[in-house]
Amino acid sequence: MYPESDLIPLSALQHFAFCQRQCAFIHLERIWLENRLTAEGRIMHEHVHQEAHETRKGVRAEFSVALRSLRLGIFGQADVVEFHKDRIRPVEYKRGKPKSDNCDAIQLCAQALCLEEMLDRGISEGMLFYGKTRRRKTISFDAALREETESAARGLHELVCSGKTPEPVYAPRCKSCSFFEVCLPKVLGRRRSVKRYLEKASE
Ligand code: SF4
Repeated sequence: MYPESDLIPLSALQHFAFCQRQCAFIHLERIWLENRLTAEGRIMHEHVHQEAHETRKGVRAEFSVALRSLRLGIFGQADVVEFHKDRIRPVEYKRGKPKSDNCDAIQLCAQALCLEEMLDRGISEGMLFYGKTRRRKTISFDAALREETESAARGLHELVCSGKTPEPVYAPRCKSCSFFEVCLPKVLGRRRSVKRYLEKASE
């Protein structure tokens, strides 16, 4: 169990899963750079968070629900939590379309783990709503996703404790990253490769 003073924003988990260097820029160095993609995402969340709650067809939806898990050491908020007769499920709004990585699912699963700890109820699934496709995608909180999420939370705390920003690793994800211009993943990544090559050659 983590003390309150060590809790880290839940959104950092998604940044960590996307790129540890980006996560360190935002949560260690306190830099935030906006591009078109992040601006669209922020505007979408502001729109979702305007309501407090509503009830439709017997399902009560609470908006901007505060979350916390002392076990994982995270806090934050869910866009929406739906209270059905037989189940509870978090719903997270995303601006784009479903991605090939698991970052959004990890963020949603972390919300479910917070709710489970807070409400002492099991939560088996949640929904990701994508603005581009205007569709919801069901995410099952199976054992593998739970382990991946818990492992990301442990890694996130280790990163914050270390206080060190990791070296860049250029990858396809860099193309959509708002930190591209300050991170210089191609230039610095290449320099690191050369340094490693020279170190290995002199062994
Ligand atoms: S540009 Fe790439 S390596 Fe740099 S922070 Fe963004 S995703 Fe990470």
